Amino acid sequence: MGSEQLYDGYSATQLFGQGVSYTYDDVIMHPGHICFGAHEVDLTSNVTKNIKLRVPIVSSPMDTVTEAEMAVAMATVGGMGFIHYNCTIAEQAAMVAKVKAHSPGFVVNVACMTPDTPVSALDALKSTKNFSSVCVTDTGALGGKLLGIVTSRDIDFVSDRSTPLEELMTREVVTAPAGTSAKAAQEVLRANKKGRLPIVNAAGELVALATRAAFVGERFLPPQGAPSLDGQGRLRCGAATGTREGDKERIAALVAAGVDAVILDSSQGDSTYQLQMLAYIKQQHPALDVVCGNVVTGAQARRLIEAGADGLRVGMGSGSICTTQEVCAVGRGQATAVYQVSRVANQLGVPIIADGGIQNSGHICKALALGASAVMCGSMFAGTTEAPGDYFYINGQRVKKYRGMGSLDAMAKGSEARYLSDTQNLKIAQGVSGTVKDKGSVRKTVPYLAQAVRQGFQDLGVQDVPQARKALAGGSMRMECRTGAAQAEGGVHDLLTYEKTPW
Ligand code: 5GP
Repeated sequence: MGSEQLYDGYSATQLFGQGVSYTYDDVIMHPGHICFGAHEVDLTSNVTKNIKLRVPIVSSPMDTVTEAEMAVAMATVGGMGFIHYNCTIAEQAAMVAKVKAHSPGFVVNVACMTPDTPVSALDALKSTKNFSSVCVTDTGALGGKLLGIVTSRDIDFVSDRSTPLEELMTREVVTAPAGTSAKAAQEVLRANKKGRLPIVNAAGELVALATRAAFVGERFLPPQGAPSLDGQGRLRCGAATGTREGDKERIAALVAAGVDAVILDSSQGDSTYQLQMLAYIKQQHPALDVVCGNVVTGAQARRLIEAGADGLRVGMGSGSICTTQEVCAVGRGQATAVYQVSRVANQLGVPIIADGGIQNSGHICKALALGASAVMCGSMFAGTTEAPGDYFYINGQRVKKYRGMGSLDAMAKGSEARYLSDTQNLKIAQGVSGTVKDKGSVRKTVPYLAQAVRQGFQDLGVQDVPQARKALAGGSMRMECRTGAAQAEGGVHDLLTYEKTPW
């Protein structure tokens, strides 16, 4: 038998050229030959023309997924976060500035209150955010003059919860000067046996906070690897924006805050709105990388690439909270969309981000094997410690809210531009609002996900993304479609009870 006859299954061109829309679960990849260890797999890949990530996983610009804390965590583990724009220009730019100014090892969101705040406000903070202490500053915010610290030891036995913090706070606080490194801060905490170390500048203003809990927590995290840094050693941070006239001001503010790339956020990106905004950005901010989309066909992709897009987001209606396919009758199975767009984009040298529908590490492997340069996740990271919003309980389960940016709930806060819904007086939802389970920290999830994808690449017999790309284009990346029964067989079956803990 000739070696070509031993290659059964299908190449991507054969499988996806049959007029059927497949999603990740429909497709199964054939294993290749292993001649390297999983630790030798390199997942480094471009998320835009000019930004390479060691871990090609990014978080969605959604208001229940990515704000500063998520973006810091994603960049810390080698990925990147894109901050949503369902907020004012000033709020979004401040979040980007916070990520760019962040020093690893310090707290991202420092809880601050004014001296006249009653203890009951700290009780509320504890129940929703699990914060047990606050810094008291004259402005009630970071940057104000540090007046004291209040911890549970100061307030546990106070029966009158309307007592102002200034009556209870510890005024003699051990501090360290601005510029103290994380390592030096850890040493001060160790030597002083304190739980918190405020970092203050020469004017006595609070500029950062280090905590014992954060340093101790590090011990329980998997190795974080190298962070995603820009040329000046600052954490990478992306942000989303729209294509309205007012978004020009938003983009200028994001650029001033140091943003690395912007996403023009639309469920259907093949529009004159995106082409015009892209032309404007390329003229006004030529150094800024612009990701256009979303797209699901080669024709849509080519138009945006020829206009200068530095990256494309691929997916329409595949997201866990999306109803676009139901409501508008457009979209595509995500595996087909990723492959068909990658055929065009890879030839033209523009990276694509497989956006939406990622439920596990296998889906990430498939997206990369089908030509994506990176994946974007919403539901995977919603419900983590770093996702915005407070935890609450439903039927005994600890959950956080997760909502589509085209849900009525999110649009009520102003996100309708993405779905072009405010052009009519009738708002039509293209997404839903719900909850997801508490998933712990993304600083744990992402390293494990990346390791699982490395193992997947090893099984595929490809050691890095360029090799996967070559195998895909050359037809040696083999695959086939799974029947419903084969999909059931591929999951856990025939057990009375089991617990599925991926790591
Ligand atoms: P997930 O990772 O949860 O499956 O999908 C997240 C992606 O869904 C986002 O990155 C975005 O592209 C898309 N998305 C977010 N909100 C909505 C929405 O309300 N409607 C639709 N159609 N897509 C959404």
